[in-house]
Amino acid sequence: MKIESIDVFQVELPYSGGVYRLARGREYASFDSTVVRVTCDDGTSGWGESVPFGSTYIAAHGRGVRAGIDEMAPHLLGLDPRTVDRTHEHMDGLLVGHGHAKCAVDVACWDVFGKSVGMPVCDLLGGSTGEPLGLISSIYAGSPDDMRARVAEHRQLGYIAHSVKVGDDPARDAERVASCLADRQPGEYFLVDANGSMTVETALRFLRLLPTDLDVVLEAPCSTVRETLSLRRRSDVPIVWDELATDDASVVSMIAADGADGLGLKISKSGGLTPARRQRDMAIAAGYTMSVQDTVGSDIAFAAVVHLAQTVPTRLLRCMLDVRGMVNLSTVRNPVPVVDGGVTAPREPGLGIDVDTTVLGDPVASYS
Ligand SMILES: [Mg+2]
Repeated sequence: MKIESIDVFQVELPYSGGVYRLARGREYASFDSTVVRVTCDDGTSGWGESVPFGSTYIAAHGRGVRAGIDEMAPHLLGLDPRTVDRTHEHMDGLLVGHGHAKCAVDVACWDVFGKSVGMPVCDLLGGSTGEPLGLISSIYAGSPDDMRARVAEHRQLGYIAHSVKVGDDPARDAERVASCLADRQPGEYFLVDANGSMTVETALRFLRLLPTDLDVVLEAPCSTVRETLSLRRRSDVPIVWDELATDDASVVSMIAADGADGLGLKISKSGGLTPARRQRDMAIAAGYTMSVQDTVGSDIAFAAVVHLAQTVPTRLLRCMLDVRGMVNLSTVRNPVPVVDGGVTAPREPGLGIDVDTTVLGDPVASYS
């Protein structure tokens, strides 16, 4: 089985909630999605998607994804997509870093792999736990009352976890978090996510202003490893990494430094399912909790999230992000259903999605 052609599509995904706001004045009204179709010599095709969260979230952006694919794609023709580690090594040999560009191709290769052997991707990644996967909301920074209302809306929809965005001002952030947890239900999980926007000083002030009985985990408090380790030495709040965990080496380093208690695993940030699978295993070995996510994306990115999350041991999986809920466009004819607030990976071969090519339009680039 050989890769015969690679088609690249570009789709704009409007944010479903109007304008998404992060600390430091970052705003996002829509997201630039790159979708890849890998087609093989026997006619089998697979799909992948990569959607950086704008250009101000991590070192990635939509046009960069397509430029990276353009750099690699002509040299991937003829490879066997089922040998996923070898294909990823090949991409590493063509382009240093830029995992977000490799992600869409890598996920498409896993989709092909599954279809070629008649197995769902989660089984190729090690096997499904069979447990329904709980969803986490993404509550952008706003007024305390508004954030509390949005938590309540997601609770009504069955979400069992909430990622509350903070990072502006210690006192205001403490008010926001207290408000979001005011109606907390038994078993609910709250991440307080600063997206790297706190200094150690503001983080310590925030923690002192926070009511002491609130059950929260602090995600990505600071933008550097040094600051995060300093904060960790000086507080007892559980910390999980997100933006600073971008590849195998960074995950190894944070584990070696006892730098956190958990990991936000985002597939495009990791560079696709092949490295995300390795980072999942590193996290398991370290006893880390995980939330499996992607930066954002449509149904195609979500399918990859579901299949990977489905393989994380239940005791370590805190939640999964339904990236589809953040956008107003569906890219498949058979969206993975949410049942009682939980999702289970499809059992069809590959990712188990039927991509709606009419939504994608014509390819913006093709390699054959
Ligand atoms: Mg985060």
